[in-house]
Order: sequence, then C-alpha cells, then structure tokens
Amino acid sequence: MTYKSHLLWAVLAGSASWAAVQVVPLPGVGRLPVGGANEFMLWMAAAVVGGLFPDVDHPHSRMGRAMPLVSWLVRCIAGHRGLTHSLAFLALVGGGLFCFVSMPIGLGFAAGYASHLFGDFLTDGGIPLFWPWRRRVGFRLFANGGFAEAALNVVASSAAFYAWWHLH
Ligand SMILES: [Zn+2]
Repeated sequence: MTYKSHLLWAVLAGSASWAAVQVVPLPGVGRLPVGGANEFMLWMAAAVVGGLFPDVDHPHSRMGRAMPLVSWLVRCIAGHRGLTHSLAFLALVGGGLFCFVSMPIGLGFAAGYASHLFGDFLTDGGIPLFWPWRRRVGFRLFANGGFAEAALNVVASSAAFYAWWHLH
C-alpha cells in the first residue's frame, strides 16, 4: 500500500480501537483506564507512527527518510518487507512501548501497526507475517497503489464516517 493509504488506515484503526476500548471491557481486565483528550491525542499520534513505521526498511519511504540510520540498520538485518512486517515485531515494539512508555502509546501504536500489516497483507507482494519463518503470506488481492486500493480506501472511510455519524 502507498504511504497515503497507510496513513488513512492508521487514522481509521486508531479511532476505531480508541472507540472500542471506551465501551468494550477486556476479558479479565475490565474497562481500560484510558480516556480524555490528552490520552486520545497520544493514542492517535502513536497509531499514525505505528501505521507508517513498518516501511522504515524502505529507503525512500517517509519513515525511511526521516530515520535514515534506523532504516539502513533494519534493511541490513532483514531487507524490505522483512522483519518489520511481522507479528513478532509488532508484539515486540508494541509490548515494549506498553510496558516501558505508556499504555495509550503502546496500544495506539499496535493498532496503527496492525492496520499496516493488514493493508500490505491484501496487496500482491504479501508479507512475512510469521517471521522468522520467511515465507510471504497474504490475500494478494490487488497491486500496490492501484485502482482497487483507492476504491478500498473510499469504502473504508465511508464506513468509518457512517459508524461515527450513527454512534457518537
Ligand atoms: Zn509496508
């Protein structure tokens, strides 16, 4: 998926997950103690960073250009659409942020990150979701950045707007 699609999906995933934790109690945990404008801003900022971060391993991506050293390091270790496009990396970084930084940042980041993996899972390259098993998996429904991707973006935004309009 393109940078813009990932950005859109990160914002949608961030707001949907935020709305969900406000109303749905987690099994064994109950309602999460998050709320208020400040935590919402943190959550959304983390979701956007999480949604764009996986492509840090591409030198020409926004994240790759913003953090050239990190980009180079990750590329050396795993190549593009390698380790950063896996559940293992999501759990590692999201869990780390959750435990050592803050809960809203960790969960928001994980929501955005998951939206990125989901988006790339749909496109024709596939991703090594179960890294270190290197096999790329995915639905491979459409080409990166093509018409189908744009159409899906429109459908997802309309659905989100519809949900927001009827639920808030
Ligand atoms: Zn990607």
